[in-house]
Amino acid sequence: MAVDCHIHMALDGGYWKDALARHKEAPDEAFIRKTLETYKRLGFTYLRDGGDRWDAGKRASELAPEYGIRYRTPVFPIYRKGHYGSFIGRGFETLDDFRALISEVKVRGGHFIKIMISGLMDFNRYGVLTDEPMPGALIRELTNIAHGEGFSIMAHANGDAAVRGAVLAGIDSVEHGAYLTDETLHMLAESKTVWVPTLVTIGNLIGDTRFPEEATRPLLAYQMAAVRKAADFGALITPGSDAGAYRVFHGQGGLDELALLREALGENADEILARGTAEIEARF
Ligand SMILES: [Zn+2]
Repeated sequence: MAVDCHIHMALDGGYWKDALARHKEAPDEAFIRKTLETYKRLGFTYLRDGGDRWDAGKRASELAPEYGIRYRTPVFPIYRKGHYGSFIGRGFETLDDFRALISEVKVRGGHFIKIMISGLMDFNRYGVLTDEPMPGALIRELTNIAHGEGFSIMAHANGDAAVRGAVLAGIDSVEHGAYLTDETLHMLAESKTVWVPTLVTIGNLIGDTRFPEEATRPLLAYQMAAVRKAADFGALITPGSDAGAYRVFHGQGGLDELALLREALGENADEILARGTAEIEARF
């Protein structure tokens, strides 16, 4: 039995524009079924999608029971206009826009809310993020609205400021979490927020020529050490690969993530991850 708490059915591990083009008329059911079959063959029983605005993940959630998989979808991820997320999500400017998107997720049968509250790691430059974090007060308002509608929240968050904002707001899971300092890892450990470190999105770049290893190797080492520290402090951690992201292939990516987490966490890895995964499965 395996779980992957962060995948994107709409993507395929290649270039995102080509992958998304496949679903633009309608979700590509042949691709989705083939992917679900791969997960089933590898023993996956729980998948949590990060969403896409073409309904590939939503269609997958409808088909997944045929494959013995519990599949959770936010329908589409939500980003703040002018910030990271426009390639795959739906944007908001005002809180009323945000409330309208939440209502739409509810009407369309979404299981939770996914929001983007930071940029990405810059894989060309160690230590650099691609966007400023969302202000803490706004993170708190969005969280209160979504929780008020009965939804759990998954947040794409890199860097101390965004992750602290998420923890203080009571967001249910933070995804990626690059460059966290010890103080933030302590805050995470004292909260009920589950960390999904997606190590394989970095690990699978090593040996590829797209990004310089002077940037990717120290980033992976930093993240592996942070995961170990967070676990020592008592944080909730669960495997999620970001499958579909560049060079992270469906199914195999989840297995690769588990291998990296086991390497980072040592002999108690399975026990540590079981705690985090139980929280995710209960809330999402
Ligand atoms: Zn993702």
